[in-house]
Amino acid sequence: MGRAFVYVIVGGGVAAGYAALEFTRKGVSDGELCIISEEPVAPYERPALSKGFLLPEDPTRLPSFHTCVGSNDEILTPKWYKEHGIELLLGTRVRSVDVRRNTLVSSTGETISYNFLIIATGARALKLEEFGVEGSDAENVCYLRDLSDANKLATVIQSNSNGNAVVIGGGYIGMECAASLVINKINVTMVLPGAHCMARLLTPKIATLYEDYYSSKGVKFVKGTVMTSFEFDSDKKVTAVNLKDGTQLPADLVVVGIGILPNTSLFEGQLIIEKGGIKVNSKMQSSDSSVYAIGDVATFPVKLYGEMRRLEHVDSARKSARHAVSAIMEPEKTGDFDYLPCFYSRFFAFSWQFYGDHVGEVVHFGEYEEGKVFGAYWVKEGHLVGTFLEGGSIEEYETISKATEMKPVVTDMEELAREGLRFAQTVVSQQVVPEVEVVQSSEIMRQTSTVAMMEKPLHAWHAVSGVVVAASVTAFAFWYGNKKRR
Ligand code: FAD
Ligand code: NAD
Repeated sequence: MGRAFVYVIVGGGVAAGYAALEFTRKGVSDGELCIISEEPVAPYERPALSKGFLLPEDPTRLPSFHTCVGSNDEILTPKWYKEHGIELLLGTRVRSVDVRRNTLVSSTGETISYNFLIIATGARALKLEEFGVEGSDAENVCYLRDLSDANKLATVIQSNSNGNAVVIGGGYIGMECAASLVINKINVTMVLPGAHCMARLLTPKIATLYEDYYSSKGVKFVKGTVMTSFEFDSDKKVTAVNLKDGTQLPADLVVVGIGILPNTSLFEGQLIIEKGGIKVNSKMQSSDSSVYAIGDVATFPVKLYGEMRRLEHVDSARKSARHAVSAIMEPEKTGDFDYLPCFYSRFFAFSWQFYGDHVGEVVHFGEYEEGKVFGAYWVKEGHLVGTFLEGGSIEEYETISKATEMKPVVTDMEELAREGLRFAQTVVSQQVVPEVEVVQSSEIMRQTSTVAMMEKPLHAWHAVSGVVVAASVTAFAFWYGNKKRR
């Protein structure tokens, strides 16, 4: 029998780092907490890998982007874990877990027991092989999920200046990497199966504006098709990408971003899985009472929408981690996880944030031009449920998050489009609920400047990281259309 800990976190990514900080804040004792991570480095802010890490000059490197710098907290270096009596088992994969016996076995063969287990295994990148295409292991084919992928990509970029890149997939990785490749003077062709980029979230109108900008930077889009095979040279390097429509694209390097698969395999048959993730309740507790799940791997109830969701974004990883630790350490003081989904991205000089849910009818607003402020509202069953904003200020992002969380009534879609951002501002300025807890703008300013360090150049990033609004929505019925007509 190996060691025993009170708390074990399996996985050492974003959520694990934020959980560790929260454990120390809640008074964990020396030797009680162990984090086991397959990666050889302490938890870091993964978003930096597709942004500051790929810059041609002065790229961001560790230790500057260890967690929890993304929310302007301390930088948790390996020394920090040591000083706080936290066992950090790096380069160690958890091979199996026996949930019934509260034990796990690591890749070194050690059996470790726990009182509480937190699953923070995140996800892995989907491989082309899973779609019947061979050749992912070629030295110039790059995925981007972890630091070793990012190191490979940065090396391949450096040795292919002025070369041709083919980017497979038009999601977050595709768009952010394509921008980084252009900044590195590489010619980019993007291959996407759908009609426009980032179709999971963006409307065709928003996507078209971004695609037009990419085109103005020389990026070519090949849409409505998928790749079927690679051409290789005698060194097994990819030289071209063959598409289903018969096109052949010359390639010095290939970047693949075709989605992810949550790392649940250790728990299949032991815990309830829903929507591809470990099903947890509003305390982030799984179907076994001593096991919790956080981050990309957790499917949790989003109270605001009365639905189970699994999210793949850093804000939810950070906040679900804090909530789980609080629920474990201070169960009597911890309520339900009440989360407003928040996504953001940055490419070239663009920077956007989205809050809420992208369902229902969409209304666009603002000036749809590069360098201008524009956005969209999603309205479902007469209530505002989602807001997208490009180019906003810190205060404007704070405003849209608050307004979206309040789910105000919308009666007139044309009026909503005309009012644009003013709608959210009016909703927030007229809120009458007393129990409102808002992030101090000074805190947001500090967060933004810290983030600039890891994701240069400076842009408003994820303005809201802590508590946003705890408002009783039912107490506030903002009958916007009627009010305007009065
Ligand atoms: P991860 O951060 O993936 O961590 C999981 C960890 O578990 C990894 O270290 C993994 O090695 C380890 N692990 C897995 N299985 C085992 C095992 N059996 N034993 C031991 N260790 C194991 N989100 C945004 O909102 N905005 C962004 O701009 C943004 N940019 C991104 C850029 C990139 C390149 C990537 C890849 C993601 C980005 N994301 C972004 C998404 C965000 O990073 C994830 O939502 C977040 O990292 C999820 O945190 P996590 O802790 O759940 O998982
Ligand atoms: P994604 O789900 O955002 O996009 C996948 C893309 O691949 C889609 O455009 C899809 O149509 C396309 N696709 C699927 N199968 C394909 C195939 N066989 N051939 C070609 N294209 C195919 O996933 P991603 O871009 O790979 O990102 C991976 C993860 O990283 C996601 O969880 C994402 O949320 C996260 N991430 C987030 C951010 C951010 O929030 N700013 C940035 C980077 C990464």
